[in-house]
Amino acid sequence: MRAPGGEVVITGGLGFIGSHLVDAYLAAGHHVRIIDSNAGAVIDGEDYDADPRCTVIRERVEDHLAAGGDFAGADRVIHAASYVGPASILSRSGRLGHDIIGSTAPVIEACARAGVPLCMFSSAEVYGRSGVLDEKDDIVVPTQYNTRIEYAVAKTLAEAMVCNSRRQGLRGIVIRPFNVAGARQSRAGGFVMPTFVQQALAGRPITVFAGGEQVRAFVAASDLTTFLLDHMDAALDGDDVIINVGNPANAVTIADLAARVKSLLGSDSPIVRVDGRSVHGPDYAEAESFHKIPALRTATDLGWRPRVTLDELIMATADYYRAREDRRAVNAPL
Ligand code: UDP
Repeated sequence: MRAPGGEVVITGGLGFIGSHLVDAYLAAGHHVRIIDSNAGAVIDGEDYDADPRCTVIRERVEDHLAAGGDFAGADRVIHAASYVGPASILSRSGRLGHDIIGSTAPVIEACARAGVPLCMFSSAEVYGRSGVLDEKDDIVVPTQYNTRIEYAVAKTLAEAMVCNSRRQGLRGIVIRPFNVAGARQSRAGGFVMPTFVQQALAGRPITVFAGGEQVRAFVAASDLTTFLLDHMDAALDGDDVIINVGNPANAVTIADLAARVKSLLGSDSPIVRVDGRSVHGPDYAEAESFHKIPALRTATDLGWRPRVTLDELIMATADYYRAREDRRAVNAPL
Protein backbone atom coordinates (compact mmCIF):
# COMPACT_ATOMS: atom_id res chain seq x y z
CA MET A 1 0.00 0.00 0.00
CA ARG A 2 1.31 3.44 -0.83
CA ALA A 3 1.73 5.90 2.00
CA PRO A 4 -0.42 9.04 1.83
CA GLY A 5 2.65 11.09 0.98
CA GLY A 6 3.68 8.89 -1.96
CA GLU A 7 7.09 7.40 -2.67
CA VAL A 8 10.17 9.61 -2.57
CA VAL A 9 13.28 8.49 -4.47
CA ILE A 10 16.49 9.51 -2.71
CA THR A 11 19.76 8.91 -4.51
CA GLY A 12 22.65 8.77 -2.06
CA GLY A 13 20.18 7.77 0.66
CA LEU A 14 22.86 5.91 2.63
CA GLY A 15 25.08 9.01 2.74
CA PHE A 16 25.15 11.76 5.33
CA ILE A 17 22.60 14.20 3.88
CA GLY A 18 20.69 11.45 2.08
CA SER A 19 20.09 9.37 5.22
CA HIS A 20 18.79 12.40 7.11
CA LEU A 21 16.36 12.94 4.23
CA VAL A 22 15.29 9.30 4.28
CA ASP A 23 14.54 9.51 8.01
CA ALA A 24 12.61 12.75 7.60
CA TYR A 25 10.46 11.50 4.73
CA LEU A 26 9.75 8.22 6.56
CA ALA A 27 8.75 10.16 9.67
CA ALA A 28 6.40 12.25 7.53
CA GLY A 29 4.60 9.10 6.32
CA HIS A 30 6.22 8.61 2.92
CA HIS A 31 7.59 5.48 1.37
CA VAL A 32 11.22 5.87 0.29
CA ARG A 33 13.22 4.29 -2.51
CA ILE A 34 16.95 4.63 -1.86
CA ILE A 35 19.38 4.30 -4.76
CA ASP A 36 22.94 4.31 -3.46
CA SER A 37 26.20 2.89 -4.84
CA ASN A 38 27.75 2.74 -1.36
CA ALA A 39 30.54 5.12 -2.46
CA GLY A 40 29.78 7.64 0.29
CA ALA A 41 27.64 5.52 2.61
CA VAL A 42 27.84 6.42 6.30
CA ILE A 43 25.45 3.62 7.36
CA ASP A 44 25.02 0.03 6.17
CA GLY A 45 21.30 0.54 5.49
CA GLU A 46 20.19 -2.69 7.20
CA ASP A 47 17.54 -0.83 9.20
CA TYR A 48 16.10 0.44 5.93
CA ASP A 49 16.24 -3.06 4.41
CA ALA A 50 14.10 -4.23 7.32
CA ASP A 51 11.59 -1.38 6.98
CA PRO A 52 8.60 -2.30 4.79
CA ARG A 53 8.28 1.36 3.78
CA CYS A 54 11.78 1.37 2.26
CA THR A 55 13.30 -0.13 -0.85
CA VAL A 56 17.09 -0.06 -1.01
CA ILE A 57 18.70 -0.40 -4.44
CA ARG A 58 22.46 -0.72 -4.07
CA GLU A 59 23.81 0.53 -7.36
CA ARG A 60 24.76 3.76 -9.06
CA VAL A 61 21.66 5.61 -10.19
CA GLU A 62 23.06 5.95 -13.72
CA ASP A 63 23.51 2.15 -13.90
CA HIS A 64 20.04 1.60 -12.45
CA LEU A 65 18.48 3.85 -15.10
CA ALA A 66 20.60 2.43 -17.93
CA ALA A 67 19.40 -1.05 -16.97
CA GLY A 68 15.79 0.00 -17.43
CA GLY A 69 14.95 1.50 -14.02
CA ASP A 70 12.70 4.52 -14.00
CA PHE A 71 10.94 6.97 -11.69
CA ALA A 72 7.41 6.36 -12.93
CA GLY A 73 4.88 6.72 -10.15
CA ALA A 74 7.29 8.40 -7.73
CA ASP A 75 6.15 11.48 -5.88
CA ARG A 76 9.54 13.22 -6.22
CA VAL A 77 13.25 12.54 -6.73
CA ILE A 78 15.95 13.98 -4.48
CA HIS A 79 19.30 13.58 -6.22
CA ALA A 80 21.75 13.68 -3.32
CA ALA A 81 24.23 11.09 -4.63
CA SER A 82 27.61 12.66 -5.26
CA TYR A 83 31.24 12.38 -4.32
CA VAL A 84 31.70 14.92 -1.53
CA GLY A 85 34.41 16.20 0.76
CA PRO A 86 37.66 17.93 -0.17
CA ALA A 87 39.67 14.80 0.59
CA SER A 88 37.29 12.21 -0.92
CA ILE A 89 37.04 13.97 -4.26
CA LEU A 90 40.83 13.83 -4.78
CA SER A 91 40.66 10.15 -5.70
CA ARG A 92 38.29 11.09 -8.55
CA SER A 93 40.41 13.94 -9.94
CA GLY A 94 40.05 14.17 -13.72
CA ARG A 95 36.94 11.97 -13.64
CA LEU A 96 34.84 13.94 -11.19
CA GLY A 97 33.19 16.06 -13.87
CA HIS A 98 32.15 12.90 -15.65
CA ASP A 99 30.93 11.36 -12.38
CA ILE A 100 28.71 14.33 -11.56
CA ILE A 101 27.24 14.89 -15.01
CA GLY A 102 27.14 11.14 -15.68
CA SER A 103 24.73 10.68 -12.81
CA THR A 104 22.82 13.97 -12.98
CA ALA A 105 22.04 13.95 -16.72
CA PRO A 106 20.17 10.61 -16.69
CA VAL A 107 18.36 11.61 -13.47
CA ILE A 108 17.12 14.82 -15.12
CA GLU A 109 16.08 12.88 -18.21
CA ALA A 110 14.25 10.20 -16.22
CA CYS A 111 12.42 12.84 -14.16
CA ALA A 112 11.37 14.70 -17.29
CA ARG A 113 10.19 11.47 -18.94
CA ALA A 114 8.15 10.39 -15.92
CA GLY A 115 6.87 13.89 -15.09
CA VAL A 116 8.34 13.64 -11.59
CA PRO A 117 9.69 16.71 -9.73
CA LEU A 118 13.41 16.83 -9.00
CA CYS A 119 15.55 18.40 -6.31
CA MET A 120 19.22 18.30 -7.25
CA PHE A 121 22.00 18.90 -4.76
CA SER A 122 24.62 21.33 -5.98
CA SER A 123 27.20 22.96 -3.70
CA ALA A 124 28.22 26.32 -2.27
CA GLU A 125 31.55 25.61 -4.00
CA VAL A 126 30.08 26.92 -7.25
CA TYR A 127 30.49 30.55 -6.12
CA GLY A 128 34.26 30.41 -6.62
CA ARG A 129 34.93 33.40 -4.37
CA SER A 130 34.96 34.54 -0.76
CA GLY A 131 32.34 36.44 1.24
CA VAL A 132 28.58 36.56 1.71
CA LEU A 133 27.32 34.56 -1.24
CA ASP A 134 23.97 35.36 -2.82
CA GLU A 135 22.03 33.24 -5.29
CA LYS A 136 21.67 36.29 -7.54
CA ASP A 137 25.45 36.84 -7.76
CA ASP A 138 27.43 35.85 -10.81
CA ILE A 139 29.78 33.01 -10.05
CA VAL A 140 33.52 32.98 -10.66
CA VAL A 141 35.44 30.19 -12.33
CA PRO A 142 39.12 30.30 -11.35
CA THR A 143 41.37 29.07 -14.13
CA GLN A 144 43.86 27.43 -11.77
CA TYR A 145 41.97 24.18 -12.07
CA ASN A 146 42.23 21.84 -9.15
CA THR A 147 39.90 19.04 -8.12
CA ARG A 148 37.66 21.42 -6.18
CA ILE A 149 37.24 23.54 -9.30
CA GLU A 150 36.47 20.47 -11.37
CA TYR A 151 33.80 19.66 -8.78
CA ALA A 152 32.43 23.22 -8.78
CA VAL A 153 32.30 23.49 -12.58
CA ALA A 154 30.53 20.14 -12.88
CA LYS A 155 27.97 21.18 -10.27
CA THR A 156 27.51 24.47 -12.14
CA LEU A 157 26.83 22.63 -15.39
CA ALA A 158 24.38 20.33 -13.59
CA GLU A 159 22.60 23.43 -12.22
CA ALA A 160 22.34 24.90 -15.72
CA MET A 161 20.93 21.63 -17.02
CA VAL A 162 18.19 21.67 -14.37
CA CYS A 163 17.39 25.34 -15.06
CA ASN A 164 17.15 24.83 -18.81
CA SER A 165 15.19 21.58 -18.47
CA ARG A 166 12.73 23.51 -16.32
CA ARG A 167 12.00 25.78 -19.27
CA GLN A 168 11.03 22.61 -21.13
CA GLY A 169 8.62 21.43 -18.50
CA LEU A 170 10.75 19.74 -15.82
CA ARG A 171 9.67 20.69 -12.31
CA GLY A 172 13.03 21.11 -10.65
CA ILE A 173 14.96 22.98 -7.99
CA VAL A 174 18.63 23.12 -7.04
CA ILE A 175 19.94 23.33 -3.47
CA ARG A 176 23.29 24.95 -2.73
CA PRO A 177 24.12 23.64 0.75
CA PHE A 178 26.63 25.51 2.92
CA ASN A 179 28.68 23.32 5.31
CA VAL A 180 25.98 20.93 6.45
CA ALA A 181 26.81 19.18 9.73
CA GLY A 182 25.32 16.77 12.23
CA ALA A 183 25.22 13.15 13.35
CA ARG A 184 26.65 10.60 10.84
CA GLN A 185 28.84 13.04 8.95
CA SER A 186 32.15 11.25 8.45
CA ARG A 187 35.56 12.81 8.83
CA ALA A 188 36.61 10.55 5.93
CA GLY A 189 35.75 13.27 3.41
CA GLY A 190 37.95 15.74 5.29
CA PHE A 191 34.99 17.58 6.85
CA VAL A 192 36.02 19.77 9.73
CA MET A 193 33.16 19.25 12.22
CA PRO A 194 33.42 15.46 12.65
CA THR A 195 37.22 15.76 12.50
CA PHE A 196 37.48 18.29 15.35
CA VAL A 197 34.83 16.53 17.43
CA GLN A 198 36.46 13.10 17.09
CA GLN A 199 39.89 14.58 17.81
CA ALA A 200 38.53 16.28 20.93
CA LEU A 201 36.77 13.13 22.16
CA ALA A 202 39.95 11.07 21.67
CA GLY A 203 42.25 13.67 23.26
CA ARG A 204 44.14 13.94 19.96
CA PRO A 205 45.47 17.28 18.63
CA ILE A 206 42.78 19.41 16.96
CA THR A 207 44.26 20.22 13.56
CA VAL A 208 43.55 23.75 12.32
CA PHE A 209 44.46 24.27 8.65
CA ALA A 210 45.19 27.44 6.69
CA GLY A 211 45.79 29.71 9.68
CA GLY A 212 42.33 29.33 11.18
CA GLU A 213 40.92 32.74 10.21
CA GLN A 214 38.78 31.24 7.45
CA VAL A 215 35.04 31.41 8.16
CA ARG A 216 32.38 28.75 7.70
CA ALA A 217 28.68 28.87 8.63
CA PHE A 218 27.39 25.45 9.66
CA VAL A 219 23.80 24.39 9.04
CA ALA A 220 22.18 21.34 10.61
CA ALA A 221 21.19 18.44 8.36
CA SER A 222 17.85 18.55 10.19
CA ASP A 223 17.32 22.19 9.16
CA LEU A 224 18.08 21.22 5.56
CA THR A 225 15.58 18.35 5.62
CA THR A 226 12.96 20.68 7.11
CA PHE A 227 13.39 22.97 4.12
CA LEU A 228 12.65 20.15 1.69
CA LEU A 229 9.82 18.59 3.70
CA ASP A 230 8.01 21.87 4.30
CA HIS A 231 8.90 24.05 1.32
CA MET A 232 9.90 21.95 -1.70
CA ASP A 233 6.45 22.11 -3.28
CA ALA A 234 6.27 25.89 -2.98
CA ALA A 235 9.83 26.14 -4.32
CA LEU A 236 8.88 24.04 -7.36
CA ASP A 237 6.10 26.51 -8.09
CA GLY A 238 8.31 29.57 -7.57
CA ASP A 239 10.51 31.40 -10.06
CA ASP A 240 13.83 30.89 -8.28
CA VAL A 241 15.44 27.60 -9.19
CA ILE A 242 18.66 27.98 -7.20
CA ILE A 243 18.31 27.99 -3.42
CA ASN A 244 21.02 28.62 -0.82
CA VAL A 245 20.51 26.53 2.31
CA GLY A 246 22.79 27.53 5.15
CA ASN A 247 22.87 29.24 8.50
CA PRO A 248 24.69 32.60 8.58
CA ALA A 249 24.00 32.90 12.32
CA ASN A 250 26.43 30.01 12.87
CA ALA A 251 29.34 31.70 11.04
CA VAL A 252 32.59 31.12 12.92
CA THR A 253 36.31 31.17 12.22
CA ILE A 254 37.85 27.71 12.15
CA ALA A 255 40.20 28.71 14.99
CA ASP A 256 37.18 29.66 17.11
CA LEU A 257 35.42 26.44 16.13
CA ALA A 258 38.41 24.45 17.40
CA ALA A 259 38.34 26.35 20.70
CA ARG A 260 34.56 25.93 21.00
CA VAL A 261 34.69 22.17 20.36
CA LYS A 262 37.49 21.78 22.90
CA SER A 263 35.73 23.73 25.65
CA LEU A 264 32.22 22.34 25.07
CA LEU A 265 33.51 18.76 25.17
CA GLY A 266 35.83 19.44 28.11
CA SER A 267 38.74 18.09 26.09
CA ASP A 268 42.46 18.26 26.91
CA SER A 269 43.38 18.16 23.21
CA PRO A 270 45.98 20.70 22.14
CA ILE A 271 44.96 22.93 19.23
CA VAL A 272 47.67 22.80 16.56
CA ARG A 273 48.22 24.60 13.25
CA VAL A 274 49.00 22.23 10.38
CA ASP A 275 49.05 22.31 6.59
CA GLY A 276 46.07 20.37 5.21
CA ARG A 277 48.37 18.89 2.57
CA SER A 278 50.35 17.09 5.25
CA VAL A 279 47.13 15.31 6.26
CA HIS A 280 45.30 14.81 2.95
CA GLY A 281 48.21 14.81 0.49
CA PRO A 282 49.80 17.34 -1.85
CA ASP A 283 46.69 17.76 -4.01
CA TYR A 284 44.50 18.93 -1.11
CA ALA A 285 43.33 22.49 -1.75
CA GLU A 286 41.40 25.00 0.30
CA ALA A 287 38.09 26.31 -1.02
CA GLU A 288 38.10 29.51 -3.08
CA SER A 289 35.76 30.86 -0.39
CA PHE A 290 38.09 31.76 2.49
CA HIS A 291 34.93 33.17 4.02
CA LYS A 292 31.95 31.05 2.99
CA ILE A 293 28.76 32.64 4.30
CA PRO A 294 25.32 32.18 2.76
CA ALA A 295 22.98 35.04 1.97
CA LEU A 296 19.50 33.63 2.49
CA ARG A 297 16.85 34.86 0.11
CA THR A 298 14.72 32.24 -1.66
CA ALA A 299 14.57 29.81 1.26
CA THR A 300 13.58 32.46 3.80
CA ASP A 301 11.10 34.05 1.36
CA LEU A 302 9.40 30.65 1.38
CA GLY A 303 9.13 30.81 5.18
CA TRP A 304 12.08 28.60 6.20
CA ARG A 305 14.42 29.48 9.07
CA PRO A 306 17.46 27.50 10.18
CA ARG A 307 17.21 26.87 13.92
CA VAL A 308 19.98 24.60 15.20
CA THR A 309 22.84 26.50 16.85
CA LEU A 310 26.54 25.83 16.45
CA ASP A 311 26.81 24.47 20.00
CA GLU A 312 23.88 22.11 19.41
CA LEU A 313 25.58 20.87 16.23
CA ILE A 314 28.84 20.22 18.03
CA MET A 315 26.99 18.30 20.76
CA ALA A 316 24.91 16.28 18.27
CA THR A 317 28.08 15.25 16.42
CA ALA A 318 29.78 14.36 19.72
CA ASP A 319 26.79 12.36 20.99
CA TYR A 320 26.85 10.32 17.80
CA TYR A 321 30.58 9.57 17.92
CA ARG A 322 30.68 8.89 21.66
CA ALA A 323 28.45 5.92 20.96
CA ARG A 324 30.05 4.50 17.80
CA GLU A 325 33.03 4.64 15.49
CA ASP A 326 33.20 6.54 12.22
CA ARG A 327 32.75 3.58 9.88
CA ARG A 328 34.05 5.37 6.77
CA ALA A 329 37.17 6.57 8.56
CA VAL A 330 38.22 3.53 10.62
CA ASN A 331 41.53 3.28 8.78
CA ALA A 332 42.30 7.00 8.61
CA PRO A 333 44.56 8.25 11.45
CA LEU A 334 42.94 10.87 13.68
N1 UDP B 1 39.73 22.24 8.34
C1 UDP B 1 40.67 22.30 9.36
N2 UDP B 1 41.11 21.14 9.89
C2 UDP B 1 40.66 19.91 9.48
C3 UDP B 1 39.69 19.86 8.44
C4 UDP B 1 39.26 21.06 7.89
O1 UDP B 1 41.11 23.37 9.78
O2 UDP B 1 41.11 18.88 10.03
C5 UDP B 1 39.28 23.52 7.77
C6 UDP B 1 39.46 23.57 6.26
O3 UDP B 1 40.75 24.01 6.01
C7 UDP B 1 38.39 24.54 5.83
C8 UDP B 1 37.32 24.41 6.91
O4 UDP B 1 37.90 23.68 7.98
O5 UDP B 1 38.89 25.84 5.77
C9 UDP B 1 36.09 23.68 6.44
O6 UDP B 1 36.51 22.48 5.89
P1 UDP B 1 35.49 21.41 5.29
O7 UDP B 1 36.32 20.43 4.53
O8 UDP B 1 34.61 20.87 6.36
O9 UDP B 1 34.56 22.27 4.31
P2 UDP B 1 34.88 23.25 3.07
O10 UDP B 1 36.33 23.71 3.12
O11 UDP B 1 34.60 22.47 1.84
O12 UDP B 1 33.96 24.39 3.27
